[in-house]
Amino acid sequence: MNEQTDLIFRQIAARAAALEPELTALRRDFHRHPEPGWMELRTSVRIAQALRDAGCDEVLTGDAVCDRDSRLGLPSEAELDAHFRRVAADGLDPVLLDKMRGGMTGVIGILRCGPGPVIALRFDVDALPVAEADDPAHRPAAQGFRSEVPGVSHACGHDGHTAIGLGTAKLLCELRGQLRGTVKFIFQPAEEGVRGAKAIVEKGHLDDVDYLFGAHLGGEPGQDDAVGVGPNRTLATAKLDVVFHGKAAHAGLVPDAGNNAMLSAATAILNLHAIPRYGAAPTRVNVGRVTAGSGRNVICDRALLELEVRGLTTEANDYMCAYAKRIVEAAAQMHGCTCEIALRGEAAGDCNDPALCQTVLTVCRDRLGLAVTELPDEPKGYISEDYSLLAARVRAHGGQSCYFKNLSACAAPIHDPRFDFPERALVNGVTAFAGLTAALMQ
Ligand SMILES: [Zn+2]
Repeated sequence: MNEQTDLIFRQIAARAAALEPELTALRRDFHRHPEPGWMELRTSVRIAQALRDAGCDEVLTGDAVCDRDSRLGLPSEAELDAHFRRVAADGLDPVLLDKMRGGMTGVIGILRCGPGPVIALRFDVDALPVAEADDPAHRPAAQGFRSEVPGVSHACGHDGHTAIGLGTAKLLCELRGQLRGTVKFIFQPAEEGVRGAKAIVEKGHLDDVDYLFGAHLGGEPGQDDAVGVGPNRTLATAKLDVVFHGKAAHAGLVPDAGNNAMLSAATAILNLHAIPRYGAAPTRVNVGRVTAGSGRNVICDRALLELEVRGLTTEANDYMCAYAKRIVEAAAQMHGCTCEIALRGEAAGDCNDPALCQTVLTVCRDRLGLAVTELPDEPKGYISEDYSLLAARVRAHGGQSCYFKNLSACAAPIHDPRFDFPERALVNGVTAFAGLTAALMQ
């Protein structure tokens, strides 16, 4: 690295720090107006406008972002429509909003700086069905930026991820004269439930990407600010909805004339939890919800199961998924029922590329002056993330991916009603994303 490259890292650190008030205001605005997956309308309109203002060469919205038919786990049309009408009444840009009708949310900004590598940065933007804490010990409540939507909140920090993405775009657009290559700022909808990434992958946005980065806010109370980097193994998963169709009958008069969908569901539940262990990698299975039956004296004609399987590798998860489907179909057949199986969410097994981890480590620590914590390869942290589908597509043609942690003293674990993070983590996030991108575009 020469003096010129050192200069750009100093510029990035200084400009990111100067952005703190703007990042804080953005984050608090998104925090007050959380929107669940595929309903991020206001969020997406704001993102699109901010990316245009920042000076991106292209800002993709609506059908240009997600492959319509590859979206998983969509809310009902009634829910999508009701939210659309609520948001439309707020006076947002009607042309932009109209492109997003029917759950076509998400935005991609593109910055073109001539020949060079293609780098994608992924930021998830959706909120959770978690009612936010409202006691004065919860900072968003005390400082007046608590969620204004009952039962929905940014308990996973995606409000922060969105603000970091916009800050990074602004900063890199300002420095475009010093960069070579292309940056794609991917603002992905519906990460919760691992539903959104597949539709972005299927649209082909990752097909020319050489380097992919993503990050998550987090950390225990008392945690020092740091970029956490390690293998970041995540579990492959499939979320399945199963509907058993049977035949209703009077339970006293003609019990043999019915086909009991509840029995199929019960048989399936017990046998799903009895899938034999997979030898080569840890696996998981859970049936989390069952809905069945209409009354005491009626043979049940319909039962719904919501279940998930996971595996530390994509192969382990495929084993679980295939076994689960066979059990469900056999359980239906056993009681003369039929079944429909719908995929509602999906993630691949993921592990960071060691070479790109090393880049994150050296650039963040040695060039940007950020503290770096090397994270162990431990099962405790195994979750699932649909970022893995983006990474798998990048790797399929020889690209590299690294998903890191943006650590700071958070008030509670993610998905907790009291989750909150110190807003200086926004500055650290912008510094890391912009610095890493610039390092690869010299
Ligand atoms: Zn999250």
